[in-house]
Amino acid sequence: MEQHQACQSCGMPLTSPEQWGTNQDGSKHAEYCVYCYEQGAFTQPDFTLEQMVDFCVPFLVEEGMQAEQARAMLQASLPHLKRWKAVEAN
Ligand SMILES: [Zn+2]
Repeated sequence: MEQHQACQSCGMPLTSPEQWGTNQDGSKHAEYCVYCYEQGAFTQPDFTLEQMVDFCVPFLVEEGMQAEQARAMLQASLPHLKRWKAVEAN
């Protein structure tokens, strides 16, 4: 079994406890980051996979990646994350 060390919505690596999202009772959510999931709900519940890609590209560009390269990587990796896998199955 592979451990979930990245957000299952945006793919951001989760390296410190402050980066984990929160449940309604304030405890840490084990699969989503704080930017995607806060107090028991997605912060952008209506996001499509495409919108999530658009949302994430600038962060990767900021880290030195080319925009096209970032987009291609996100389009290849995000569909495998738990949030989007569920959508694909429908
Ligand atoms: Zn996230």
